[in-house]
Amino acid sequence: MSTTTVTDFEASLAPRNAAALLVEARLGVFFVPAFWALDWVVMPAQVWTLLWIRAVPTAFGIALLLLRHLAPELFERRATVLAFGFSLLVAWSIALMCFLHEGYESPYYAGINLLVLCVGLLFSWRTPMAIAFSLAIYAFYMAPLLLGITSAKSLPVMLSNQFFLFSTAVVTVASHIHRRRLERSEFDAQVAQRHLLAEVQTMATIDWLTNLYNRRHFFRLGEEEIARARRYKHAISVLMIDIDHFKHVNDNHGHTVGDEVLSTVAKRILAGLRQSDIAGRYGGEEFAIVLPETDLESAAEIVAERLRDTIVSRPIDTAEGPLRVSISVGVAGVELGSEKLLDALTRADAGLYAAKHAGRNRVVRGTPPATPAAPS
Ligand code: GH3
Ligand code: MG
Ligand code: MG
Repeated sequence: MSTTTVTDFEASLAPRNAAALLVEARLGVFFVPAFWALDWVVMPAQVWTLLWIRAVPTAFGIALLLLRHLAPELFERRATVLAFGFSLLVAWSIALMCFLHEGYESPYYAGINLLVLCVGLLFSWRTPMAIAFSLAIYAFYMAPLLLGITSAKSLPVMLSNQFFLFSTAVVTVASHIHRRRLERSEFDAQVAQRHLLAEVQTMATIDWLTNLYNRRHFFRLGEEEIARARRYKHAISVLMIDIDHFKHVNDNHGHTVGDEVLSTVAKRILAGLRQSDIAGRYGGEEFAIVLPETDLESAAEIVAERLRDTIVSRPIDTAEGPLRVSISVGVAGVELGSEKLLDALTRADAGLYAAKHAGRNRVVRGTPPATPAAPS
């Protein structure tokens, strides 16, 4: 997806990297001391030297578990670097084992191979880190030979160990790259799905031409607002708006210009309302509005008049030049006893009808409710 960035993708990996680090720390805190128990059997003579080698990564693992507990955000933010450091420490301790015990012929070299593989498969670090880790393991193993600290007693064994190490390093990096590819495509699919869902939601609730709520969604939000007003005994009013002589616009300038006018009228209506007001396209060129926290007086004298003025006072720019249109508005205050939105709109519609008959371009209050409106 063009809209997703590498940064988004990296951010999406952070919780998974932290979860993987937690697994690594728990395994490390269990296995490193467990190996010390094994040292008593394999290398009893050096067991107290080995204690220190085992203790360092164990302490780091415990510190990681504490950090996760005390500062989880820091743990997640730094998970990649912490995992890298912890793994290097464990790798270093295993490399030391090799050279304390029979050098290149040591049975411990298998531990390094295992570690490289486990770490490579478990953790989705950044690719350069996966490569750096594999190189570091290789360097740990090669350093004593290159520095002349030790020499290979058996060249074939050394070469076979080297080959094992090299191949596990390649598997590590390859599995890492493969995993990142999978994660990336999964991430892209999730993003595409979210976009699709948002698009479907928009299509299901918003009128494409005017960007106002469609009738169905308008009713849903409007009924909720009336229920809230009823609960808290707050005033709430509705408006019905119809563009005057709109047929003339279509007849004289065509439907495309008619559409432009509709869209601009809707924009001006939205601009003239509060964020909390609910505006819907009720029918062709009719709009309905729910005004929470607004009594009949304010709805008629302030809001409806402001909307009427904002539309009639300035011509609308269209492909066929500027056009001036007006609107008629019917207003009703919702009766808070039990009135439904549709009933309030029907009363407002009566006001709209009266406004048309009185000459259009005006605001008229609709019929009063059957039962008197609650005082606002
Ligand atoms: P009045 O002042 O009595 O309201 O006169 P009017 O000409 O506006 O009459 P009416 O409300 O009955 O006409 C509505 C017109 O709006 C008829 C229809 O062709 C047009 N219309 C409805 N929906 C659309 C639309 O999406 N685009 C366009 N361009 N025109 C529409
Ligand atoms: Mg009309
Ligand atoms: Mg109409």
